[in-house]
Amino acid sequence: MPAHSTRQRGTVLVADDDPVMRLLMLEMLDSVGLDGIEAADGAQAVALAHARTPDLILLDIEMPKMDGFAACRAIRDLPNGATVPIVMVTGGDDLEAVTNAYEAGATDFVSKPINWPILGHRVLYVLRASDAIVRLRIADAQNRAVLAAIPDTFFRMSRDGVYLDYEPGCEGLGRGARDAAGEETLIGRHVADVLPRDIAERLLEQVATALSVRQVRSIEYELIRFGEPQHVEARLVATGPDEVLGLVRDISERKRAEEQIRRLAYCDSLTGIPNRQAFLETLERELQRSKIGNKKFAVLFMDLDAFKRINDTLGHDVGDQLLKQVSDRLRETIRPNDLLSRGDLLPRADADTNLARLGGDEFTILIPDLERVEHALNVAHRVKDAMRRPFLIEGNEIFVTASIGISLFPEDGDDCTSLLKFADTAMYHAKTCGKNNAKLYSSSLTMQIMSHVKLEVGLRRALQNNELYLLYQPQLDVRSSEIVGVEALVRWRHAERGIVSPNEFIPLAEETGLIVPIGEWVLRTACTQARHWQKLTRRPVRMAVNLSAKQFKDENLSQIVLSALHDTGLDPRLLELELTEGTLMDDAKATLATLEQLRGIGVYLSIDDFGTGYSSMNYLKRFDVRALKIDRSFISGLPQDSENAAITRAIIAMAHGLKMIVVAEGVETGEQLGLLEEYGCDLVQGFYLGRPAPAEAVTAMLQRLWVPAPAR
Ligand code: C2E
Ligand code: MG
Ligand code: MG
Repeated sequence: MPAHSTRQRGTVLVADDDPVMRLLMLEMLDSVGLDGIEAADGAQAVALAHARTPDLILLDIEMPKMDGFAACRAIRDLPNGATVPIVMVTGGDDLEAVTNAYEAGATDFVSKPINWPILGHRVLYVLRASDAIVRLRIADAQNRAVLAAIPDTFFRMSRDGVYLDYEPGCEGLGRGARDAAGEETLIGRHVADVLPRDIAERLLEQVATALSVRQVRSIEYELIRFGEPQHVEARLVATGPDEVLGLVRDISERKRAEEQIRRLAYCDSLTGIPNRQAFLETLERELQRSKIGNKKFAVLFMDLDAFKRINDTLGHDVGDQLLKQVSDRLRETIRPNDLLSRGDLLPRADADTNLARLGGDEFTILIPDLERVEHALNVAHRVKDAMRRPFLIEGNEIFVTASIGISLFPEDGDDCTSLLKFADTAMYHAKTCGKNNAKLYSSSLTMQIMSHVKLEVGLRRALQNNELYLLYQPQLDVRSSEIVGVEALVRWRHAERGIVSPNEFIPLAEETGLIVPIGEWVLRTACTQARHWQKLTRRPVRMAVNLSAKQFKDENLSQIVLSALHDTGLDPRLLELELTEGTLMDDAKATLATLEQLRGIGVYLSIDDFGTGYSSMNYLKRFDVRALKIDRSFISGLPQDSENAAITRAIIAMAHGLKMIVVAEGVETGEQLGLLEEYGCDLVQGFYLGRPAPAEAVTAMLQRLWVPAPAR
């Protein structure tokens, strides 16, 4: 049906049995730009309407064969006839004819006698109105098609929550809603009878807001549909003063995708438990919750003790599997509700967020609602016990232990970063306390670690800044009463802290590897001094230098010793290296090789702090040790302490039996010197003979040959 305004000339069917009338009609039509076709009776009119589908029909009532009413009804029954405008021509004031015309389906009527100019306008007007109706009908059909095609359900709703219109979307929700409503339309019903009460209330709030702010509002809610949760978004926009249009969309798919993304971003891919990011967020939430509720919580930081070794020796696959099993065990361990006192209030998944893998072999556990500190310690011990059972991986039984640090809110800190850091610090402390340990954080720990770090920074600069220097302590030959040697003892003049004892900084130097350059500096300085004294006194003064275990393990050791001797010109026989028992016992094979090299150079070896370790004398003899230095702890109680006296005597006797000489350390009194002389001790060293002193002071002693007399 041509129904657009761009038509050039419309076609009008004129049905009248009077040829004059038809002629006049055609002329009138032509004058307003329309074409006419003619029918002389009703039957012909119906046939033409069927064949040509005119834009308008002018139908006379009284015609032979079939009158206008019958023709009108017949045309309306044609396939294209329902919408074509039909104007009936009635006679005079025949009101009944007018009524009958409308009943037969006429669009309009004109009455005779015809006012020709008016009829022209009338025809044009009817054509235009018909066009508009057709356009509306098409637009409406299009709208319906669109609504039927989009997945969204659409409704109109009044301000007070009554559905004014409702059109289910082509998929999902709409039908569900209709199903829920029992296949009947929602139109006329109140939203509170259709949706769960809380959702209906939220929806009505948004309806009110949409009406007042005149902006699109949206609301998300969850429905249970066919037993499955369905996420829904409703967008509301005001379409009148008291009416909104709503578009309801199933967003379950989007929610699922979001959940998937969340899982990827927040889950540790190896173990499936939350990762660092997730833990930080959980921690932040817990922090806020605890602050508001005035509650306490604990953060546990766990690190496996020898994971690196397992990874290195058994391979990364085994390492990965171990981490998985560890996380499973942790999950089991913290699952019972004694961890979560509010466990039954929480959905199960939430209990899992309290456990996380931060990375590597580091795991964290959050213990909320902590009532007592012991509770956190209990969990830590349970975790440790759980780790102690062997792990079975690829047929290997793997044993691991864990070190755990604990920080507490609010005692230790009130922000996540600090709490996590402090738990880590406490864990580190637990490790240094011998691993397989659980320790609570304390602020003194940080102080300790901070000063440790500060000291380390200072020590790195100590050498360049000339802050290290040596003192020398004389060693006296008991029989000849001559100073036959000195021990070099290092000191650190710290800019702020003053003189730092080697007992404090040597372990630090060992830990950081700085002992190697420091040791080399000590060796060279001591050799230079010894060579100087030898020239000055023309006597052989033996120089004893302490070697730490780390230095001893350094493969360049003999090279360093050799070049120190070479550069200073010192006779190797005047250098004695002091080792502890522990250093020698560590790795017997490597030790023998190193000792052989050193002996090959011609330097002597002595065992420092003898008696505190666990070496057998026989063993020491194999190492070609020249001297044993009896530890100060045996000497300090003399002469009263009979047990130590006996031990001292036995050590001296046995050493002599194996052709080793004995040096007694820490001799502080003349009585001690007397007793040691009686026991046949070879050399003595201690405050009684001289404290460690600067080189010049020792030079004076060497020149004067001053010796204190043993008390008898
Ligand atoms: P050590 O090798 O056993 O040195 C003897 C320590 O005993 C020295 O402490 C010395 O001052 C102290 N002492 C000596 N006579 C007496 C006494 O009669 N009474 C008491 N109460 N103490 C006495 P110092 O100098 O503080 O050195 C401590 C330790 O530091 C040394 O023990 C040694 O193991 C280490 N050390 C010192 N200098 C060096 C060095 O250059 N390299 C290495 N690796 N270690 C060093
Ligand atoms: Mg020593
Ligand atoms: Mg010693």
